[in-house]
Formats: sequence, C-alpha cells, structure tokens
Amino acid sequence: MASDCIFCRIAAGEIPAKLVREDENVVAFRDIDPKAPTHVVVIPRRHIASVNDLEPGDAALLGEIFLAAKEIAREEGIAASGYRLVVNTGRDGGQSVDHIHLHLLGGRRHSWPPG
Ligand code: AMP
Repeated sequence: MASDCIFCRIAAGEIPAKLVREDENVVAFRDIDPKAPTHVVVIPRRHIASVNDLEPGDAALLGEIFLAAKEIAREEGIAASGYRLVVNTGRDGGQSVDHIHLHLLGGRRHSWPPG
C-alpha cells in the first residue's frame, strides 16, 4: 500500500467511499464526481501506478478487474444498453489518480471519438 495514495486508502477502508464490490484483489466504488448516471471506479487493491507499470504477472489481476466490471454492469442494469470502460494513463490520457483504475460509465449514450 502507498500511504499517500487515495485509492490505496479507500481500499484499506481509511477513506470512506460508496463501495459496490470488493473481494480479495479488487475493489469498486462510485466515483465522487460522476460523469454518467452510472460511474464506478474499479481498482486492484495492490498499488500499481498506471498501465505503464504493469508487468506480465499482472495479467490475471487485469482479468479480475474486467470481470468485476462486467458483473457490476449487469447489477447496475446497463449490460444490455451498453457502457464504456476507460483507463486513463498519464498526463495526456487524463489520469489524475496514480493508482491504476478502470472507469465503468453507463446510463447514457457516449460519443466517439472521446474528448
Ligand atoms: P482519472 O482522472 O482517470 O485518474 O480518474 C480518477 C477518478 O477518481 C476521477 O473520476 C475522480 O472523480 C475520482 N475520485 C477521486 N477521488 C475520489 C474519491 N475519494 N472517491 C471516489 N472517487 C474519487
């Protein structure tokens, strides 16, 4: 755990968040500043700063994160209507929290290309 990382602290229960799912490796919570009617952030408990820091051994963990997002989409009732999964990376990617995370956005139509 990185003690100065807000998402590590949410995963540890040190900062309150609206959790929607948690298990041994993955935690999901509602975004504090939602960009869609459903906006859930899915993170690994383990601190990984960004996609740039992934290693081959993280492949299974990434699979768990995507499977969690799939289950949450079903529970939120947006699986059939569709949703967007986003991983912002680095400055140009719009990443503001340096703990890798998957945004699950749904409940409205998303345009393409993104802004
Ligand atoms: P990104 O900009 O891709 O790094 O996404 C970080 C996201 O974390 C943003 O959508 C923020 O609104 C969200 N966020 C930041 N702090 C919190 C918090 N304490 N609880 C829930 N979501 C947060």
